Amino acid sequence: MTTGLRDLATIRTNVSGRVIGPEDPGYDAERQVTMGGVDAHPAAIVKVADTGDVVAVIDLARSTGLELAVRCGGHSSAAHSTTEGGIVLDVRDLNSLDIDVAGRTAWVGAGLTAGEITTALASHGLAIGFGDTGSVGVSGITLGGGIGFLVRKHGMTIDNLLAAEIVTGTGEVLIADAETNPDLFWAIRGGGGNLGVATRFRFRLAEVGQIVGGLLVQPATAASITMLIRAATDAPEALSLIANVMPCPPLPFVDEAHHGELVIFSLVCWSGPVDEADAALAPIRAAVPPIADLLRPMTYPEMYGPEDPDYHPLAVGRNLFMDGVDEADAQTMVDRLAALDAPMKVVQLRPLGGAMARVAPEATAFAHRRRAIMANVAAFYTGPDDLERTTDWVEGLTRELRDGEGAYVNFIADEGPEGVRRAYPPATYGRLAEVKRRYDPDNVFRRNQNVEPAPA
Ligand SMILES: Cc1cc2nc3c(=O)[nH]c(=O)nc-3n(C[C@H](O)[C@H](O)[C@H](O)COP(=O)(O)OP(=O)(O)OC[C@H]3O[C@@H](n4cnc5c(N)ncnc54)[C@H](O)[C@@H]3O)c2cc1C
Repeated sequence: MTTGLRDLATIRTNVSGRVIGPEDPGYDAERQVTMGGVDAHPAAIVKVADTGDVVAVIDLARSTGLELAVRCGGHSSAAHSTTEGGIVLDVRDLNSLDIDVAGRTAWVGAGLTAGEITTALASHGLAIGFGDTGSVGVSGITLGGGIGFLVRKHGMTIDNLLAAEIVTGTGEVLIADAETNPDLFWAIRGGGGNLGVATRFRFRLAEVGQIVGGLLVQPATAASITMLIRAATDAPEALSLIANVMPCPPLPFVDEAHHGELVIFSLVCWSGPVDEADAALAPIRAAVPPIADLLRPMTYPEMYGPEDPDYHPLAVGRNLFMDGVDEADAQTMVDRLAALDAPMKVVQLRPLGGAMARVAPEATAFAHRRRAIMANVAAFYTGPDDLERTTDWVEGLTRELRDGEGAYVNFIADEGPEGVRRAYPPATYGRLAEVKRRYDPDNVFRRNQNVEPAPA
């Protein structure tokens, strides 16, 4: 039953963190999430200061019946980290970082961003592989899986997760690791926010010093796309590449003649020995002569480009897996991209494999270990008038390119139960629902890519 929040004074006496309501200064800034077009007004945003606060907020959500949204970096494509009229449990002030340099492990507060952690670790020549964007929160990316520049060499983010502290739906504070609550540890590695609120994570750290990385821009044709993706798939595991097939933006380092033409805009990261980079990169460069080649030795945090915190685009995106990219697939991309009039349109291709694929699909709640390529189809729209047209284009192209079922939970938009089922194959879904029944039997954590608890 929903009883609502009569006032915020009671919450303020029960937590040591900040409680921000609609009347408070800073409310608009604090309720803002990354995705554009989201204008939800929570009844309260609680910036928890410690684990005790998390327990208190979960208790408040249970007693009032209000919807509970859990927020870290705010990048959820489905805007699940905010709620209309409910409570936002905001973990961003849980920002401790305790690095054991000799032991190559770190305890990381659940509110930090991937960029903050990456910068701090780099001063020790260490890294955790997160994604391609520094402002993404450690909690969201880790609980969903984590696929980034180090995925082929060091595995997914969850493959380097050693433990986490979790507050469950019933308010229990638990450690989850391989020995303690192993069912919970299995489920939080891919199960998203379904099982509880993470307050801190313990990671294994990889040695990552100088890398060779940056931007490579090549003309996009069916042949060049196919050759590039083949070269990236066959490359040594220390090489990861995120290829964006899209119209070339008016970038100062690309000849004006190419602006607006279809290009492959790749973020490339070679994390092997610097003196072996040229040999490893040769087949990538040979796929088609680059029109801009900004690859250079750099520190790993430099892979995260500058970001504008006030950038909130209106975007539609869909995620899929492919078994490979043949010329027919690539031609479809080229044709469909040419046919849409939109402020931004892209097919993003991420060759996988390597360390990620050596983990058994049933070892974690992320099951798509053996898929060759993860792809995202996305486009910007300008308002309600072109939303439907843009969505049709994105969904149509996704259907044309998708090989079999499957999607990555961290890139699913608000696609309902069907989207969640796509993220979890039936056996994974069933096991998650069983674990959910144990740790969140009343589905307190339902504002997410929701797996309902299995019936008792
Ligand atoms: C620009 C952009 C680039 C991206 N690039 C990549 C990439 O390269 N690789 C990749 O793997 N993913 C990538 N993602 C997807 C990203 O990993 C997910 O959107 C992720 O969920 C965002 O985490 P967040 O903490 O920033 O978001 P939030 O919106 O704050 O959180 C997302 C969800 O996670 C849950 N959650 C958050 N904090 C907690 C917590 N402490 N305890 C329990 N549940 C919690 C909640 O259910 C919440 O709705 C990208 C997303 C964007 C927008």
